[in-house]
Amino acid sequence: MTVSESLDSIVRIAESVRSGGCSAEAIARETLSRVEAREPSVRAFLHVDHEGFVAAARAVDAKRARGEELGLLAGVPIAIKDALCMKGVPTTAASRILEGYKPVYDATVVARLRAADATLVGKTNLDEFAMGSSNENSAFAPVHNPWDLSRAPGGSSGGSAAAVSSRMCLGSLGSDTGGSIRQPASFCGIVGVKPTYGRVSRYGLIAFASSLDQVGPFATDVRGAARMLRVLAGHDPHDATSLDAPVDDYEAACDRPVAGLRVGIPREYFGPGLDPEVDMAVRRAISCLEQYGCTVKPVSMPHTKYAVATYYVLATAEASSNLARFDGVRFGLRKEPDHDLRSMYGATRDAGFGPEVKRRILLGTFVLSSGFYDAYYLKAQKVRTLITRDFEAAFQEVDVLCAPTAPTTAFRLGEKTHDPLAMYLSDIDTLPASLAGIPALSVPVGLSANGLPIGLQVMAPHLHEARAFAVAAACERHDALHVGAPAAFP
Ligand code: GLN
Repeated sequence: MTVSESLDSIVRIAESVRSGGCSAEAIARETLSRVEAREPSVRAFLHVDHEGFVAAARAVDAKRARGEELGLLAGVPIAIKDALCMKGVPTTAASRILEGYKPVYDATVVARLRAADATLVGKTNLDEFAMGSSNENSAFAPVHNPWDLSRAPGGSSGGSAAAVSSRMCLGSLGSDTGGSIRQPASFCGIVGVKPTYGRVSRYGLIAFASSLDQVGPFATDVRGAARMLRVLAGHDPHDATSLDAPVDDYEAACDRPVAGLRVGIPREYFGPGLDPEVDMAVRRAISCLEQYGCTVKPVSMPHTKYAVATYYVLATAEASSNLARFDGVRFGLRKEPDHDLRSMYGATRDAGFGPEVKRRILLGTFVLSSGFYDAYYLKAQKVRTLITRDFEAAFQEVDVLCAPTAPTTAFRLGEKTHDPLAMYLSDIDTLPASLAGIPALSVPVGLSANGLPIGLQVMAPHLHEARAFAVAAACERHDALHVGAPAAFP
């Protein structure tokens, strides 16, 4: 098999590098030639780290030549969402306010990928500070969906999803606060996993909403995502919210039979606004799971309808606090340095933040302000508990929940930019799991008539990622649900 042919699966590449069948440097060179050919139309990257990437590949080959055993991701080209710190490499969160900023340390997830001998291609585009659902809130350039370049890749981790979907790398990291891994995975026809809150370290992730933010992998297939999560997961003393719980063998879970598993279908996810083609594809996937011996059971989660409002109160409140640190003093941009401190803060933030980020800071400051706190923030916290209880009740009766990842396929670039509310509503299916802190993934299960991917969302109880992987792998094995790579980017 040529390097190019095997460049479609994480596990295949890692195993061929580990066994000496293929050099990491050859893979890096092939990756860079793909980036050169494909990036001009997809625009997934904000920064390609040519030198660091090739040097890392050479280091992997040298390690093997010394007879040392290589890590689980040996020679696998992986891209990093630009909301994660990578030592010495420009990190902007797609915001003007961080232009010129180079972190002095690696995020824990970046360090773990390096320790597993992955090779890091560069930093991918996103919605500014991960606020958005289409990637169009990036301060730099829009990303194009590899399945149809006139469409959005989803967001906020759209660059990470598009880079994998167009096979410019085999895996990537995203962050998911309200759907930013799952929704772009669904739009781009790849696998994306939001782990349990606390399962993966957030140390070195530029914070958006700290009670919701979670880092997770994108991959071309379920097994690749499982292997990546195995490397990423685990306790980190640098993150106070990191869980100290054993990490399952997610890859082994991909081979686990699903017969006998109880699959819940939450009625509220199949309501008005759901594209009939998405509805049909998701139901077909569920019937394939039935063929494998799963039992399917309708469930009701009555507080689902409050998820969008709840999320947009809590996430903006936390963002308004987290983004206070960007004031021109410590990081990136500084405007009017010769004026007094206050006007320097104001001028820097005015020039540095884009319109969506400003909108969220205003909203968040409002819901936290005295007099409105009880009516908005406190109430939203209570509703969050009710949404969590819906899941707890459902998981008394079923083992996993299956639903659409997003109500539609990828929309056109520009289609929703004038209407923030329409954009917020595209998160309707991903927000509840985020609020409850449970693991959820998206796996491709079909294409629409116009050739756009459709994702199935599999949600599981806290720390039961393995179960979600088993279900997703079963779907992936079923011929009727096969999706593959976009025709333009084999
Ligand atoms: N689309 C959602 C938002 O705009 C979720 C973003 C995310 O998960 N980072 O907030």
